[in-house]
Amino acid sequence: MERLQRRERLEHNLADIGMTIMVLSGKGGVGKSTIAANLALGLAANGYRVGLLDMDIHGPSIPRILGIQGHSEGTAEGHMIMPLDYNPNLKVMSIETMLRDRDASLIWRGPMKIRAIKQFLADVLWGKLDYLVIDSPPGTGDEPLTIAQTIEGATALIVTTPQELALADVRKAIDFCHRLDMPILGLVENFSSQICPHCGKPIKVFGQGGGKITAKRYGLRFLGEIPWDDRLLAAEDAGLPMEAENDEKGAMPALHALTQQI
Ligand code: ADP
Repeated sequence: MERLQRRERLEHNLADIGMTIMVLSGKGGVGKSTIAANLALGLAANGYRVGLLDMDIHGPSIPRILGIQGHSEGTAEGHMIMPLDYNPNLKVMSIETMLRDRDASLIWRGPMKIRAIKQFLADVLWGKLDYLVIDSPPGTGDEPLTIAQTIEGATALIVTTPQELALADVRKAIDFCHRLDMPILGLVENFSSQICPHCGKPIKVFGQGGGKITAKRYGLRFLGEIPWDDRLLAAEDAGLPMEAENDEKGAMPALHALTQQI
């Protein structure tokens, strides 16, 4: 009975969501959460109603990137969970905003994670959304699998860095999407270059062009190269996301261009 009710809630909830974009990567630390957060912020700034769901159960970063302090509350009748209103167009939900101690680790095996993800998808009261952006953990484990199998029509945006070691894992992420029949919106390359503080020229710290070559090989859209930007790192550490419009160089114009292509 409870399962049936949950399925109904899930269907009801998902019916109100326009497009679901799961941000995926083969490896950790490539900028997946950064891109998920900035994509959600960019879409919200363009006037869309956006939900940002942090499904990285073991390493949630979204609340820290956005500087979110609040806790998610249950609705008055107690069945549903309210996401946090980051701004009038952006609602955010993370496992971390439900924990009393944010530094506590979650030691969960697969079935518990799968249950938690399904609960998040069924019980969070998003209301009407144009986009649901999901930050999933790196790799092709329980979390992205559960999301892909639960949300019909979910699409993937794959993040990589230019070097072969990351690209080897990205090929697995592409294979994962193909096997699950999940459309891939495109591939985005982060940490593509760093601007030399002395001569101003870009330095290709992690190699060159790997993302573009991989996108071409698999017939995927290449959604751009995002350079290393010290200010982005500092802003995220401080929980104060950078504003796109006050910037002409660095990561923000590239992140803005990415949003425009969605
Ligand atoms: P992932 O979600 O793949 O683990 P994150 O988005 O958490 O990666 O990024 C890892 C670290 O790199 C974070 O400290 C983040 O602020 C930083 N970072 C991500 N992209 C950039 C960039 N283009 N320039 C500078 N720092 C970045």
